[in-house]
Amino acid sequence: MKLDAKIPEGPLAEKWSKHKFNLKLVNPSNKRKYTVIVVGTGLAGSSAAASLAELGYNVKAFCYQDSPRRAHSIAAQGGINAAKNYRNDGDSVQRLFYDTIKGGDYRSREGNVYRLAEVSVNIIDQCVAQGVPFAREYGGLLDNRSFGGAQVSRTFYARGQTGQQLLLGAYSALNRQIHEGKVEMFSRHEMLDVVTVDGKAQGIIARNLVTGEIETHAAHAVLLCTGGYGNVYYLSTNAMGCNVTAAWRAHKRGAFFSNPCFTQIHPTCIPVSGDHQSKLTLMSESLRNDGRVWVPKTKELAAQLREGKIKATDLKEDERDYFLERKYPSFGNLVPRDVASRNAKEMVDEGKGVGTSGVAVYLDFADAISRLGEDAVRAKYGNLFDMYYQITDENPYKQPMRIYPAVHYTMGGLWVDYNLQTTVPGLYALGEANFSDHGANRLGASALMQGLADGYFVIPYTLGDYLATIGPKAIDVNHPAFTETKKAVEERLQKLLSLKGSKTVDEYHRELGKIMWEYCGMSRSEEGLKKAKKLIQDLKADFWKNAIVLGTNEEFNMSLEKAGRVADFIELGELMIDDALDRNESCGGHFRVESQTEEGEALRDDEKFAYVAAWEYTGENKPEALHKEDLKFENVKLSQRSYK
Ligand SMILES: Cc1cc2nc3c(=O)[nH]c(=O)nc-3n(C[C@H](O)[C@H](O)[C@H](O)COP(=O)(O)OP(=O)(O)OC[C@H]3O[C@@H](n4cnc5c(N)ncnc54)[C@H](O)[C@@H]3O)c2cc1C
Repeated sequence: MKLDAKIPEGPLAEKWSKHKFNLKLVNPSNKRKYTVIVVGTGLAGSSAAASLAELGYNVKAFCYQDSPRRAHSIAAQGGINAAKNYRNDGDSVQRLFYDTIKGGDYRSREGNVYRLAEVSVNIIDQCVAQGVPFAREYGGLLDNRSFGGAQVSRTFYARGQTGQQLLLGAYSALNRQIHEGKVEMFSRHEMLDVVTVDGKAQGIIARNLVTGEIETHAAHAVLLCTGGYGNVYYLSTNAMGCNVTAAWRAHKRGAFFSNPCFTQIHPTCIPVSGDHQSKLTLMSESLRNDGRVWVPKTKELAAQLREGKIKATDLKEDERDYFLERKYPSFGNLVPRDVASRNAKEMVDEGKGVGTSGVAVYLDFADAISRLGEDAVRAKYGNLFDMYYQITDENPYKQPMRIYPAVHYTMGGLWVDYNLQTTVPGLYALGEANFSDHGANRLGASALMQGLADGYFVIPYTLGDYLATIGPKAIDVNHPAFTETKKAVEERLQKLLSLKGSKTVDEYHRELGKIMWEYCGMSRSEEGLKKAKKLIQDLKADFWKNAIVLGTNEEFNMSLEKAGRVADFIELGELMIDDALDRNESCGGHFRVESQTEEGEALRDDEKFAYVAAWEYTGENKPEALHKEDLKFENVKLSQRSYK
């Protein structure tokens, strides 16, 4: 299959407008003849479902939580980017576009990224109209702060709970449509497969998580807004339920999976404290507006800190190394996440790590507190400081926070074209579930922007084009494809339930996470990746022999749910390894130790790797086929990324 990204011709700034004009429309009275399935009700899914229902389509929306408003999007803390230039500090659509392309280390499509920057301004207006309580300045205008990889302040925020407030906005819009009868909501339902008829997506198979009933749902199109797969690493900042199952099952039905190895490791998380943990906690990037990252200048001082002989506050200025400010004077503490994370690791590897484990660096607010006062710092970041205190029992107003990088976001995902359609006609992917806009490293506050851009402003246009093409003829839920897919789902569930070994599914998940973190985490090497591939294959074989899954299908069964998700994670893990092995260059968060500059920065190889990797499933235990979408850069010059 030849990949066609369908990027419109013409000047960058006109592509989206022209494309919208060229797309087919569905007449208002015909819209009610179509049904659209939206799987996922995070920011991408809620905004899409509400917007499509508002247009007049019938929508069936699914989520596995007990309420759509519990989607992982609610965890987002720091903010959402938009090129509003309220600060008059030089921002523009062009600059947001440029920062995002550069931030992603030139591994994303110009056309998509420009569109994202263009619609970013509409998102803020839409959310304000919904009543999202963005922080305001004294004069009443919306306030902004800075995030990594930018020299302007373009991040809109609602304290440290921006995701929650945005989701409440989208959820209200969704509820309005549920009330109007245009959205039928299926909470506590897990999509377990996509049904394709004549190569087109025409429905899904979902399990009612309370009763175990396996249901078939038909529609003219299916939208996967099912979030990211960072939990393949077991420990991550993602919500515990985040998983890859929907995307992975779609992959097995023909949707190509792109850049699976592109993972974001966030620099400011509360460090791992022991083997008992099942989750890590983010300390928002917004904290780097005022917090200064440092380690002791010498290994000896670091050792004394670790042994508790001295305290961080005992160290004088000239005994501290503010390594980000020293190495990157232009961007300082606000370098992009991949750069900040690698530098923290470097300090720890040099023996300058702090905390009892030695695997942490400091994030210090003493300067900000003396400059602005404790009250001002509390007003900006109070809930984050409280969270840190509750988890560590250390008071960040009095001593620096300890932070360390952790898995946070996945830039990889289902391949989609400019219309957000996967390689399966009628099957779309939105939000973190697709690979589209962030290249090899996502800039902070750009995920919320992308999810809402996809849901509020892109899919309402592009889906109509497809629907107008296929026409409103009813979809037959009795087609044999539905029966066959349902049977395959039931058989797989039975296979999982038949596992009566001795190792819990959680144990497998933890082992997988360790392999992924060690060999496909912050740095990757050919040797390590080859080793990891074998380890994962062995783990998979062991899982299907020795795992234990409790209970039956006909009940609320979290053991069964988890087993299915972990089995999918194991398979995904192997593909991530293949992808990381294939990409023998460093770019963004993908750091191949064989490919680095003399200063230890990621070294791209544009000649060989300026492409999107799109993997095609070819069958159980068979190597996947790699397709390449070449990336064309006509508006930016490829250069070594520098934040100095
Ligand atoms: C701690 C944290 C803080 C963050 N802060 C920020 C920030 O400040 N700014 C920013 O831009 N980004 C931030 N991010 C990233 C951002 O929150 C996510 O990328 C974004 O919210 C993802 O939204 P989504 O709609 O794509 O998916 P999600 O919000 O993850 O929603 C997924 C939905 O899919 C459903 N689902 C999944 N699988 C199935 C299935 N098989 N069947 C049925 N339903 C299914 C779930 O029930 C859920 O409704 C943060 C991430 C984390 C972890």
